[in-house]
Amino acid sequence: MKFGCHTSIREGYLGAAMQAFRMNAAAFQYFPKNPKSLAVKNFSHEDAMQCKAFCEEKSLMSVSHSPYPTSLTPQNKKKRELVIRSLLNDLDIAEACGSIGVVVHFGKQISHTDPIASYQLVIDMLNEILQRWDGNAKLLLENNAGLPGAIGTTLEELVQIRKLCTYHEKIGFCFDTCHAFSCGLWDGDNWDSVLSKGMELDYFGALKLIHFNNSKYETRVGKDRHAPIFGPGYITEDQFDQLVQTPQLANIPFILETPKEEMPHQKEIELLQKKWGNASGW
Ligand SMILES: [Zn+2]
Repeated sequence: MKFGCHTSIREGYLGAAMQAFRMNAAAFQYFPKNPKSLAVKNFSHEDAMQCKAFCEEKSLMSVSHSPYPTSLTPQNKKKRELVIRSLLNDLDIAEACGSIGVVVHFGKQISHTDPIASYQLVIDMLNEILQRWDGNAKLLLENNAGLPGAIGTTLEELVQIRKLCTYHEKIGFCFDTCHAFSCGLWDGDNWDSVLSKGMELDYFGALKLIHFNNSKYETRVGKDRHAPIFGPGYITEDQFDQLVQTPQLANIPFILETPKEEMPHQKEIELLQKKWGNASGW
């Protein structure tokens, strides 16, 4: 299995990769720029190239996470332009660093009278961005947390949105275990039905990444609060075991976004490797 965590670009993209390597991670995630801003970053191509070369040499996989204000359902034209330019910049950086793609959250409900409007906007945004993108890095749509009924929380929505985009081959998926638990998509006890639905929809064919997180709240409470994998959290080790042992997930990086103040990531990765390092035929 490829386990990893989020690392900092305080010392550049190469610095983020080296930090992951020092932690014995096989994969890492980073913010391509200031996570609180959509401002386009004039990044160092040399640093990015060095990151890519280092990752190739050490067989490290990397993925980038778009800044927090990134939204596929922007409220106005000005924000829309900012998001589009920012995501194209994130894709550029990801490509230069040799990363598999850029994680982006699904988007939010924008109208109480027209439930389709949000989906139309997400598709429109994805088309506008990807029409202008020719690289290998993909946009990776992440399933939302939130109460059941919130948008972007089901495999059906993710798969259909991807299908309806003109450039669907440039879109992949990121499955966040805490978000799935929070909204009840995966309640800890229904992995078999999540798996069979995912296969029926061909969700797994486009799945590129797992955000591997426990949850501080019970399932269907709708709260997105990550907890360390080995607790305290509401997803049990046996429930995680069922997910990790799934053959469809064997080649996919598992990235921790757990609170490192509660469990240092190096320690958590070590525990994950001890428990599941040889799972699924790696
Ligand atoms: Zn996540």
